[in-house]
Order: sequence, then C-alpha cells, then structure tokens
Amino acid sequence: MSHKIWLSSPHMGGNELKYIHEAFDHNWVAPLGPNVNGFEEDLEKFLNAGVQVAALSAGTAALHLALIECDVNYGDEVICQSMTFSASANPIAYQGAIPVFVDSEADTWNMCPVALKEAIKDRFANGKKPKAIVVVHLYGMPAKMDEILSVASEFDIPVIEDAAEALGSKYKGKACGTFGRFGVLSFNGNKIITTSGGGALVCHTKEDKDQAVFLSTQARDDAPHYQHSHIGYNYRMSNICAGIGRGQMEVLVNRIEARRTMTEFYSDLFADIEGVNVLRAPTEDFFSNHWLAAITIDEAVAGISREDLRLALLEDNIESRPLWKPMHLQPVFKNSPYYGSNVAERLFDTGLCLPSGSNLTEEDKQRIRKKIKLAFHK
Ligand SMILES: *Cc1c(COP(=O)(O)O)cnc(C)c1O
Repeated sequence: MSHKIWLSSPHMGGNELKYIHEAFDHNWVAPLGPNVNGFEEDLEKFLNAGVQVAALSAGTAALHLALIECDVNYGDEVICQSMTFSASANPIAYQGAIPVFVDSEADTWNMCPVALKEAIKDRFANGKKPKAIVVVHLYGMPAKMDEILSVASEFDIPVIEDAAEALGSKYKGKACGTFGRFGVLSFNGNKIITTSGGGALVCHTKEDKDQAVFLSTQARDDAPHYQHSHIGYNYRMSNICAGIGRGQMEVLVNRIEARRTMTEFYSDLFADIEGVNVLRAPTEDFFSNHWLAAITIDEAVAGISREDLRLALLEDNIESRPLWKPMHLQPVFKNSPYYGSNVAERLFDTGLCLPSGSNLTEEDKQRIRKKIKLAFHK
C-alpha cells in the first residue's frame, strides 16, 4: 500500500530545535522564558494590529479565558456559530453557560449575520441578553466581519473570534483574530503551524492580556506565599512548545502560500467536473489561508456523493473528512436553542475536506488527482 496522505500534518521549518536547545542550555524548561516572550512578540508583529498576545496551552484554553474575561457565568447565554469544531462551544459549557447556536451563510460557511440578529432579538424577547458572540473563520475563510460586528455593536455584545484555523487570513486587509474583543489562535498538530499543542489569546489592552496570564498561571495574588482570591487555571504555554512556535513563525508565510496552492490545485482539478463547488473567497475582501481545502458535492449532478468520494480516496490510503458536523445536531448540545435554517446542515451533508498539508509532494498530488478523476469517471 502507498504511504498515507493526511488531511493536514505537522511540517517543521528547521529552526525549531535551535530554539528548544537554547531553552535546554539555559534550563528554561517551564511555562515561562524567552521563547514564550519571543513567540508572543512574533505573533504580535505578524498580526500587525497593535495587539497583545498571551501564549497558552491550547486554543480551547484561550476560548475559555476569553469567556471568563467577558464575564460569562453560570446560566448565561453565549451565541456561537453552529458549524464549527466542538472546541468553539465546549468552553461555554465549562462556565455553566448555555450556547445559543446560529446557522451559517452560503458564501463563507460562517455565521449568518441575519440569523445572528434574529437570535439576539429573540433572546432579548426571552428576557436574556447574550453575554458574548463566538464567531469562527472556518477552514481559514474569514467570516463576514463588517456585518457581524455591526449587529454586535447594535446590541452592545462583545465578539470572540475563533481564529484557530485562520492564522494568516485577512478580511479587508486586516488579520483575522484582531477584530473582536478577543481573538483565539490554535497551534494544535493539524493547524497551519504547530507547537505540538498550544494556543494563544489575542487581546487589545495590556489589562486584558495581564488578566489572561494571571488566570492561566493559577491566579496567584501578589504575595510571597501562595495567596488566591480567584479560581485559577494551568493554561500557560511552556517555553519548549514556544520554541517550536518560534521556528514555525519563520516559515508561516511559506505555509500560507503552500496551503493556498492546494486550494488552487483542487480548483483546477474540479474545473471540468460538474456538481462540485470548491470553497473560495467570495470577493477580494476575503483572504483565506485555506488551512483545509473544502468542497461540496451535488450528488444529483456529480453522480457520486461526498461519502462515495471519501471511501474512494480511502481505498488508496488518502485521508479526507466530512465538514464539521453542526453543533445544533450534536447529541451533547441537543437542548440548546438554534436559529437559522438548514445551510449548515446541507453543508455537512454534502461537504468534504481534502488533503491540504503544506508538505504534500508533487507525487502525492498526482495520486490524489488520479484517484479523484477515477471516482468521478473522468
Ligand atoms: C482547533 C480548533 C480549536 C481548538 O484549538 P486547540 O488548540 O486544539 O484547543 C478551536 N476552534 C476551532 C475552530 C478549531 O479548529
């Protein structure tokens, strides 16, 4: 059997070990040190929006702290894009709050501003003001931020941007993750760059960042002994992981280019196959890092379903995966309110993510091309 072609696998740049060696040489093997500071500075520079970044143990941890800093507590309601990875919604439950799910729109597959407004109005009518809005930039595609931010400010609700998949994506020239009160990044092993596991919270004030660092390091008050006035967390990034991150930052621009090339590759490949739509920027305002290339298949036109294609690829040891199953369809969230129609549901039924790693070779691409053409009888 030919080697496995993964959806998205870690791709080291070369200098990661240099930073890790430095950490060992100076015994900075802890959740603080020069790599943590250096990685945060690299990210702040890259995002280029005057932001302050706190490096954390995971994107999920960053979301959790963002909710805490937005004062989300037991019984509160938080609006969340339904079509996403469960990590966007789980931290709402960690706080004992209730997620209120909102449908996607067809251009970007992200939160529909119309359904968002409907949801907020109805929650107000129910006597509750939502405490925050979690919007996601799925597969790197920026959400319609102008419209989302305008609804959010009309009702004075803070926005938390889940940019875990969108490092390097831009909306109207501005980096994803820098629009909301908080932005969330992930450096999990399958993301566009990785620290083996890690995340970051993007803040706009020093107070917000300091509070995130305070909470992420067990909320120690300023005293010689261990004194606590708040519940703390162990969410800080280690200096070793941050060393990997610094090495990865050196190649981030290349990684974005390579991922975008993969979506180009699929656009060319599907150009003469009817019934297949590749997720692409709807206008010039949207710049996607194209973390994962994603398609929808209209079975009635294409003659095969997304599941047929997935199984055909698997026969040749090529990984692909259905789009995120919407949260309002997940058993664990079955009691949560939902607003919208069936856009996210349709996307889930017809959509597939295809191998998109920045480390795929020409040979890998030929294998993928051949198998896809065969599956569509081309
Ligand atoms: C990966 C991901 C997360 C979680 O990040 P971790 O670093 O794995 O905790 C959150 N939201 C989305 C949309 C993601 O893809």
